[in-house]
This record gives sequence, C-alpha cells and structure tokens, in this order.
Amino acid sequence: MPGKPPSPSTPAVKISRRGVERLKTGHVWVYRSDVSADGIPPGALVSVTDERGKFLGSALYSTASQIAVRMISREAVTDLPALLRQRIVDALAYRERVVHNTDAYRVIFSEGDFLPGLIVDRYNDLLSIQVLTQAMDAEPARQAILNGLSEQLHPAAIAERTDPRVRELEQLPPRASSLIQGEKSSTIFTMNGVKFHFDALEGQKTGAFLDQRENYAAAAQYAHGEALDVFCYHGGFALHLAETCSQVTGVDSSRPALEVADRNAALNSREIEWIEANAFDLLRDYSAANHQYDTIVLDPPAFAKSKKTLDTALRGYKELNLRALKMLRPGGILVTCSCSYHVSQSDLLEVLTQASRDVHRTIRVLENRGQAKDHPILLTVPETAYLKCLIVNVSS
Ligand code: SAH
Repeated sequence: MPGKPPSPSTPAVKISRRGVERLKTGHVWVYRSDVSADGIPPGALVSVTDERGKFLGSALYSTASQIAVRMISREAVTDLPALLRQRIVDALAYRERVVHNTDAYRVIFSEGDFLPGLIVDRYNDLLSIQVLTQAMDAEPARQAILNGLSEQLHPAAIAERTDPRVRELEQLPPRASSLIQGEKSSTIFTMNGVKFHFDALEGQKTGAFLDQRENYAAAAQYAHGEALDVFCYHGGFALHLAETCSQVTGVDSSRPALEVADRNAALNSREIEWIEANAFDLLRDYSAANHQYDTIVLDPPAFAKSKKTLDTALRGYKELNLRALKMLRPGGILVTCSCSYHVSQSDLLEVLTQASRDVHRTIRVLENRGQAKDHPILLTVPETAYLKCLIVNVSS
C-alpha cells in the first residue's frame, strides 16, 4: 500500500516501467537507465513515482552511481534523520535476537538493514563505519547516524574506514580513514570464546571477517587432527581449530596479516605455525610432496569480482579444492568458502563435485552454510547474499 503523498519539498524522480517492475519484485535498486531526474542534488532524499506520477515510495538518490535510486521506504519520508535513527534502533533489536556469544558483529548491513550504503561493525567498545553512497555521506544523515550509534552503543570511539575507489565512483571528495569520535583506536574482542586484536585503522575490510563468525564455530565442531587454514588472515579459522586440533598451520600471502595472527595466537595461549606463501604455490608443492592433513580450510578472497571473470574464478576455486582434497586423510574435513557474489552456492557445489571426481574422493556434505546472521539476507535483494561455506567429510 503506498503511503501518504510526498512532501512538496522532496524532489521527485520518475522511473520507467522496467524500473517499476523491478521494484515490484521487491528489489530496492533502480538503475540510471530507468530513471528520469532533473537537477536533483547528490545524495538527495527523493520521492519516486511511475511514469504517470503515481507515488511508489521514498529513496536516496546518487548522481554518480549506476544505481541511481535506492529505495528506503514505501511511505513518504519527511524526516530522514529520524528514520535513520529508528532503523539503527531496529537493527540493534534484530541483533539482540540473533547474535550470541560475541562482542563483535555487524551492526548495520546496508540494504539488509534497510540502510542502503551504510556498513557499521562493532568490535567490543569500538565502532567502525563505512559510508558507500552520497546520501549516507551527506550531512545531516551522517550526524544522525553517528548520534544514533553513540546513543545506543556508547562506544569508546568511532572510526571511519574509507575506500578511495568507492568514494571516487560516488564522486565524493577523497577522505582518509580516521577516528571521527573518541581517541581509542585498538581493542580486543571476543567471539565464540576466542580473543582477537583489533586495530580500527589497519587491516582489510573493517578489520575482521565477521561474516565467518558462525562458520568458525561450525568448523570447530568437526575439525580434528592436523589442520591447515589456507588464506588465514588474522587466524579466524586457525584459532578456532586450535581448540580441537592437535596441530594447526595457517597460510597467507600477507605478512602484516600473519603478524596479527601470531599476536592473536599468543593472546589465546595457542601455538600455531604461520606460513607466508602464495596459497596456490604452497598447495601445489604440498600436494605433490604428499603432505597429509585431517582438516583443511579454504577461504580465498573474492576471485570473481564481476560476471566476466566467473570462469577464471571457478578454475581457481577448482584448483584449490582439488589440491586440498588430495591432501585429506580418509575421514578428513574440508571447509571450503567463496565470498564472491557471482559464484552461487550451486557453482561452488559443482566445483567441488568435479574436483572430487578428478581425484577419486567421496564426499558427504555436513553443512551447507552462508554468512553470519548479523549480515541479514534480504530475500528479494540477491546481492545481500554473498558468502558460501561448505563443510564436507571426505570419506575415502
Ligand atoms: N579466513 C580469513 C579471511 C580470509 S580473507 C578469516 O576468516 O579471517 C583472504 C585472505 O587471503 C587475505 O588475508 C589475503 O591476504 C589472502 N590472500 C590473497 N591472495 C592470496 C594468495 N594468493 N595466497 C595466499 N593468501 C592470499
């Protein structure tokens, strides 16, 4: 049901029939080619109508992105700051119900929390925010977000992580990552009883791969014997595996990441071996040398950044999985992940099926998992689902 008519001060954009059809499916994006908008300022709150002027809802507008319109409500929004603050309250209420056993989690997951263009992560007493659109970067939206977060969570500090490429694409002025509130920039957080160092101004993404939190715990349930965590970053899987495995080795090509991983191991009084290497080379050499493991984790970076690179990406995933399967002892556990949105769950299953045939190993699927629940998937916005994590038993 469309809501009240829009306020006369909110600029209007008209969308084509194709755009209307897209919104009818429940998606919240309208591409530039489906939008007619004249003289609308960057990041404006707009009211969206069909070609005949029928009101469809309120949206945030970008003058730069191909995604010109991101719907924010089916109602007419007059007070955007108030709406943003309410959405923050709602997002936290959701987490109260679905996030357990951690003081680090994603507080706001953009479209998944009806706040397109905004990511907020909590690491114990620190918050890390990322703004991805003109609308979320604009005052007073920005101020409303910071005030809302401070009121609800009372963080010691808030850091902003900026991605120069994202800012350029959105035609936002360059801005460095920095603390925007408070002075504390590092802390220790705990998930599933495992402790991690966090530095708000270093590291990849917003600091840790919170989307894997539930998968760490799931993997630890089956992990045993000698374990290899490939693409280990700060040791998220390795540290969890160390709870049940006799020996754990982590591999990553980034020395700074391994240095943090080593400090994390010390923080948890664990002995883990860290190897700085290109994972493809190491797996090729180790499998050729007949190294054997009982548990292997593969959590590579997104190989398929776009549809065009999907085939190359799938070959990469296949090679990794093939080598890992070769090295697993009977009864071994493989945890294989993909964080490429363009690689579907069935693509990953297919890659694993082909790899298992090639190396004559029999696989039983233990768990077919995705991202942690603090990264909510909106059923009608497929782009909100991106992480795949299969846990399988390799029987012979
Ligand atoms: N498993 C980690 C996240 C992995 S992110 C966790 O749960 O926290 C991907 C990691 O792969 C990054 O740390 C990056 O440094 C590493 N990486 C990227 N290309 C690599 C390569 N060719 N060989 C080894 N590591 C690589």
